Amino acid sequence: MKIIMLGAPGAGKGTQAKMIAEKYKIPHVSTGDIFRANIKNGTELGKEAKKYIDQGFLVPDELTVKILLDRVAKDDCKNGYVLDGFPRTIPQAEVLDKALSEMGDGIDYAINVDVPDENIVRRMSGRRACLACGATYHIAHIPPKKEGICDTCGQELVLRDDDKPETVLNRLKVYHDQTQPLIDFYAAQGVLKNVDGTVDMKDVFAAIVDILG
Ligand code: ADP
Ligand code: AMP
Repeated sequence: MKIIMLGAPGAGKGTQAKMIAEKYKIPHVSTGDIFRANIKNGTELGKEAKKYIDQGFLVPDELTVKILLDRVAKDDCKNGYVLDGFPRTIPQAEVLDKALSEMGDGIDYAINVDVPDENIVRRMSGRRACLACGATYHIAHIPPKKEGICDTCGQELVLRDDDKPETVLNRLKVYHDQTQPLIDFYAAQGVLKNVDGTVDMKDVFAAIVDILG
């Protein structure tokens, strides 16, 4: 099963993608997590990506497409995957389509987690991330057991630089300009499914399981 998560930054794509990955036993592939791991490790890719990420812009397609195609070519992706944060532009979606159709394959579901802009800034300022394992929490809605510490790996949680309100507004603009058109792109392919992302995360997940079966 090959699944794409669509939605604004902070809509809950990552939260749901992790739950999908666990239930359906497929890898969760997040381009944002791959970039953050590279930034943390000081790689060339990380240095280049950071210039864009910190300002709320998209990393150029040339860099992003390559890391994604390398990742999904790995053995663990043979039976499918859930993509979180990719594609974010029509050209990225076209490259993915082409790579899949060359293998006689395609995307099964594009799940759009719908959350209005008004809710997004509040969500992002409360998000706390573990840069070690990629887990995310929310200080009010989904708090860790111990304040500031990751439940999964015990590392310190941080407010991502790109979750500061001024950057979030830019990310939302970039989302509407460059990523939202993907909703129509996947609707035209007949694989788009909309879910209400404003309800409790368990209810969002129940709606997704209804779709995936
Ligand atoms: P995305 O991957 O789309 O950027 P995340 O999954 O990281 O978004 O979620 C953004 C923030 O909102 C996180 O702090 C997360 O814990 C919180 N969150 C996710 N889903 C819900 C929900 N259904 N209700 C309230 N908060 C949520
Ligand atoms: P995310 O964790 O998905 O919110 O991604 C964090 C940041 O990484 C984004 O705001 C972008 O700057 C960058 N990024 C992640 N995925 C992509 C992508 N598919 N294309 C371009 N930039 C991306």
